[in-house]
Amino acid sequence: MSETEATGVENPEEGAAPLEVSNLRKTFGGVVAVDDTSFSVERGSITGLIGPNGAGKSTTFNCITGVHTPDSGRVVFEGEAITNLNPNQIAGKGLVRTFQIARELSEMTVLENMLLAFENQQGEDLWRSVTPGLRKRVIEEERAFLERVWETLELFEIDHLAHEQAGNLSGGQRKLLELSRALLTDPEMLLLDEPMAGVNPSLEKKLLERIHELKAQGYTFLLVEHDMDVIMENCEHVIVMHQGRVLSEGPPAAIQADEQVIEAYLGGEV
Ligand code: ADP
Ligand code: MG
Repeated sequence: MSETEATGVENPEEGAAPLEVSNLRKTFGGVVAVDDTSFSVERGSITGLIGPNGAGKSTTFNCITGVHTPDSGRVVFEGEAITNLNPNQIAGKGLVRTFQIARELSEMTVLENMLLAFENQQGEDLWRSVTPGLRKRVIEEERAFLERVWETLELFEIDHLAHEQAGNLSGGQRKLLELSRALLTDPEMLLLDEPMAGVNPSLEKKLLERIHELKAQGYTFLLVEHDMDVIMENCEHVIVMHQGRVLSEGPPAAIQADEQVIEAYLGGEV
């Protein structure tokens, strides 16, 4: 497999921003959820996306990951326009967001949830498992994947929960499972929408440690998070949205001192 096939990257430019959002706009009926939003995310960074409730953060995530088609604007990932691709195609390019575990999946075990990520990833390739000449290779691939599943569960310290139904996990353990699943899809960049919600302090610390370890390995993160301390302590760059637009962006200290930002938060329903 060539490097291009392995990473899904067509024009990787070292150092260039992997994600660029330009003039994004998304309306729902009369509601302008995202209005002329532009920003880029530095490679290997943990970038925070913050703003009062209703600012347009989740809609922006949904437009980036193909859940919504924007009315106008452009999303470029690794030099390639991905604006009109569907979520699977975008994930296949290495831009992955975590999803809450759906109700159906909460009745499956943690391990089954992880294995499902493998099936989704293999997709149409599964026919190969019934082609005699290819069986040995498929079995090897499955074994390698299973090893990765266990490694990931161990990394997140949820391996002891492998046979537990996902629905029985605590909120925090679920978040770890969501992140574990996302990592199995070989992402380059992860979009996390409130990954700490419902997570107890010790699990939150663990989750943040893992995020920093992954960052050190070269992963890029865009993080939506309500907890301002988490944003200020963990992000090197912060983008503030307000009423669908980028109000301000910069390093955490500058954002914290920005009068416009303070005003937006005081005026908003935080
Ligand atoms: P945030 O994540 O920053 O809290 P959202 O992106 O969820 O903000 O919402 C931005 C605005 O768009 C809000 O006014 C919200 O009510 C509206 N909105 C978001 N999603 C939808 C939808 N699917 N249908 C209608 N309105 C929506
Ligand atoms: Mg939101």
